Amino acid sequence: MIFRDILKKWNEKNRQKYFWRINRSIYQLWVSEIIFQQTRIAQGEEYYQRFIARFPTVQELASASRDEVLRLWQGLGYYSRALNLHKAARMIVDENNGQFPINADSWQKIPGVGPYTAAAISSIANGECIPAIDGNVKRIVSRWLEIESPMDTADFTAKVTAFLNEHIPKKKPGLFNEALMDFGSKVCIPGKPDCKNCPFIKYCGAGIHNTVSKYPVKKKNFTKKKKSIVYFVIQHNNNIIMKQRDGEDLWKHMYDFPAYETEGHLNKITPAILKHMDPFQPEEITTIGPMKHELTHITLKIFFLRAKTKSKLTLPKDHHCFSIEKAMTLAKPRPAEKFLDQMKNTYLCHNK
Ligand code: SF4
Repeated sequence: MIFRDILKKWNEKNRQKYFWRINRSIYQLWVSEIIFQQTRIAQGEEYYQRFIARFPTVQELASASRDEVLRLWQGLGYYSRALNLHKAARMIVDENNGQFPINADSWQKIPGVGPYTAAAISSIANGECIPAIDGNVKRIVSRWLEIESPMDTADFTAKVTAFLNEHIPKKKPGLFNEALMDFGSKVCIPGKPDCKNCPFIKYCGAGIHNTVSKYPVKKKNFTKKKKSIVYFVIQHNNNIIMKQRDGEDLWKHMYDFPAYETEGHLNKITPAILKHMDPFQPEEITTIGPMKHELTHITLKIFFLRAKTKSKLTLPKDHHCFSIEKAMTLAKPRPAEKFLDQMKNTYLCHNK
């Protein structure tokens, strides 16, 4: 059990004293696990504090409106996390009397909670002896054992899981999981870790054989999807037309400009695309862009077609006319947020 002992010793001196780890409730632990999943610590801390200050209990989160939760999440990305937290809070309050799951299996039935999060929460909160395996942990173990299979294979997962199951202690398994996460973010980092000063140097395969850069063996290449969005930014006096997104793929339930969306990257705005603006009876149209916006799985090519309309429009049911100030307060995708920000500045300058 040499790995476990070395890790324990390292952790006694180096455990990260994050404020959200102190006196946390299960609710706070769950929220922190969701927020910090795909977010840098420095960025997530501020969001975590605001979130917990506004929704200190699962009951308060459950009774909030979806729009308010999204608004608080704005800028953090991966909005499905916020939607799932909200949905899950309602589930826990309405169907489970406000009681949280008591093991990793039942945590996995909660929306937005995958195997890693379920194991992390349950090992910390319930003392369940189950390893929490995230990217950091995979990197460390793949280097220790010099695992040759690519990270996305069943063989890789089986090797990492078997090793950790053998080493995780029955007493305080959550501390072991957190120690591994800390070790991965502070010592056995991606790129070039400082192996010479690592406490595992005598036992780590990759450290001994100087093959660290080889591990973990990367996933088979995946190519990002391409998508184009042509936004119709329609201004009516000092108001702007927006609609709430309802598609499953992107930014669900957020407010956005009306748009034409298509797979692939458009080279130009065709007359057929312009026709989609007809219901808004635009006057002179200005094209801004294209610009690229990267999401994890998609590269977006975005055009903004900006126009004014004088007509009093009858808007489709899901469209709304907001003042620019009001639109600024709505939960919006990042590109719309940035564009509106610029618009607001121009508008304020012209109206000084
Ligand atoms: S020796 Fe290097 S590769 Fe091995 S655990 Fe330590 S830092 Fe990571």
